This record gives sequence, C-alpha cells and structure tokens, in this order.
Amino acid sequence: MKWTPATIERKRVWDEGLFTLTVRAPEVQPFKPGQFLQLGMELPDGHLHRPYSVASPHGELLEFFIVMVDGGALTPRLWNMNEGDQLDVSEKAAGSFTLEHAPAASTLWLIGTGTGLAPYIAMLRTETPWLNYRKIVVVHGARYSRDLAYQDELAHYTSRNPGQFSYVPIVSREACSEGLSGRITTCIENGSLEDKAGIAFSKDCAIMLCGNPDMLNDCESLFAAREITKHKAKSPGQIVIERYW
Ligand SMILES: Cc1cc2nc3c(=O)[nH]c(=O)nc-3n(C[C@H](O)[C@H](O)[C@H](O)COP(=O)(O)OP(=O)(O)OC[C@H]3O[C@@H](n4cnc5c(N)ncnc54)[C@H](O)[C@@H]3O)c2cc1C
Repeated sequence: MKWTPATIERKRVWDEGLFTLTVRAPEVQPFKPGQFLQLGMELPDGHLHRPYSVASPHGELLEFFIVMVDGGALTPRLWNMNEGDQLDVSEKAAGSFTLEHAPAASTLWLIGTGTGLAPYIAMLRTETPWLNYRKIVVVHGARYSRDLAYQDELAHYTSRNPGQFSYVPIVSREACSEGLSGRITTCIENGSLEDKAGIAFSKDCAIMLCGNPDMLNDCESLFAAREITKHKAKSPGQIVIERYW
C-alpha cells in the first residue's frame, strides 16, 4: 500500500464516539463516490490501518464519517485525534460500491445503518444521481435520533429537490418524530418504509445497501422474497452491497 500524509482540518462530533474527520490529503488520486480509502498510522509493532468510505467526492479535502468501536484497535485512536494531527491515507481508493456499478433504474434507494451513510453523502454531492434517477430515497438507520448525522444537508436536498428526493430516518431505540421507529427490516416488512417514501420497491429500482452485516443479510432475504436480487454483470438484478464488517 502506498501511503500519503493527511492533516486533520476539522473534527465534527455528532455524538460521543460518532464523528466526521475532514482531512487535507492532496496526493490522493481521483476516485468515484462510494469508494473507500485506508486510514492508518505507524505504531511500534507495525502499520495499523482500516478501510473507510469517503463521505465526500474527490478533492483536496476529504471527509470520513466514523464511529468509535469499543475495544477496537484503530477507532479509539482516531477518536482521540484533533485538528492539526496527521495520519496516513492510502493514495489509491478501492471498491465497486459506486453508482457506475448500480443498475439503470427509475428509483435509487440508498439504504444504510450508522456510518453506512458515508458513501451516499459523497454520491449526493455530485450531479450523477440527480441526473440519472427520477426518484432518490435515502434511508438512514440509527439507534438514537442524535446519531442521525448529516440531517441538515439531507434536509437541504429535500427542499431543493421536492418530488425527486426523500429522506427517511429510522430510529430503533426511541420514537422518531420525523421518520420511522424500529429496524429498517421491520419497516420494509410492514410496508411503512414504502408508505413514508411514497414509492414501492420494484424491479425498476437500484438498491444500495451499506453498513451492519445483519441488516444487509436480512434485507437481502426480504428482497429475495419479492424477486429483487443482487445485481451482477452476468445476472442483472437491483441490489448492490457494501459490507463494513
Ligand atoms: C469497505 C469498508 C468501508 C468502511 N467504511 C467505514 C466508514 O465509513 N466508517 C466507519 O466507521 N467504519 C467503516 N468501516 C469499518 C472500519 O474499516 C473498521 O472495521 C472499524 O472502524 C473498526 O476498526 P477498529 O480497528 O477500531 O476495530 P477492530 O479492532 O478492527 O475490530 C473490532 C470489531 O468491531 C466490529 N466492527 C467494525 N466496525 C463496526 C461498527 N461500525 N460498529 C460495530 N462493530 C464494528 C467488527 O466485528 C470487528 O471485528 C468500513 C469497512 C469496510 C470493509
């Protein structure tokens, strides 16, 4: 892996342990929204690094939306970093969780849990989804309303693109006044997600799923029952998946 230096320009804390680092890393090569870079640092026993979706399009400043994992090797270190600190970032991005790898469709569903919102923020900041889909629905699952990061930006997209864009927050551990309460899978099963978004899942959808592995597996099974399947080059379907762990 080739590393290049990144300097933390801003640290935005959404909640304890949930944060966005904006780093200046001018040597990172151009990448597609939805791809990931490695963040890391040299330690006495070797280089410690993990992959992170970039939450912004390519540019001199790059955003990473991160949650601290208790007992994790890297995230407690990232959480303790501040403006001006330096870390390593991989020069080249990787991954195929991009709009180019999603099927052509009328509706784009961007479904994520926790920091699985990151790749969608990067995509929505470019023209591509706005030009290619009649309807875009962002579904963000979190435990508590306070963990619904990027709400102001998403609200701005709603007001700028009425009819084209819907944002549906889903909160699992408390009532959610502006969205739905429960798990994403429950809201798919009981139809409340489609009601709230004002559109149904169909074969004319591209569905991107990102985040927690249980949510990904359960969503895949629910969609399979409706003959909505993974999109592959040899067997076109609707679903593209990014698994965080
Ligand atoms: C392609 C890709 C993109 C990713 N993008 C992001 C991102 O944008 N933001 C982000 O926060 N993370 C992202 N991750 C997860 C990230 O790479 C690390 O796994 C995570 O930050 C934990 O690292 P750690 O060294 O602190 O924990 P580790 O010591 O590596 O692992 C501890 C354990 O925690 C679990 N774990 C990992 N992530 C989580 C989580 N979010 N919540 C609960 N448990 C978890 C795993 O079971 C893991 O074995 C991404 C992973 C992949 C594969």
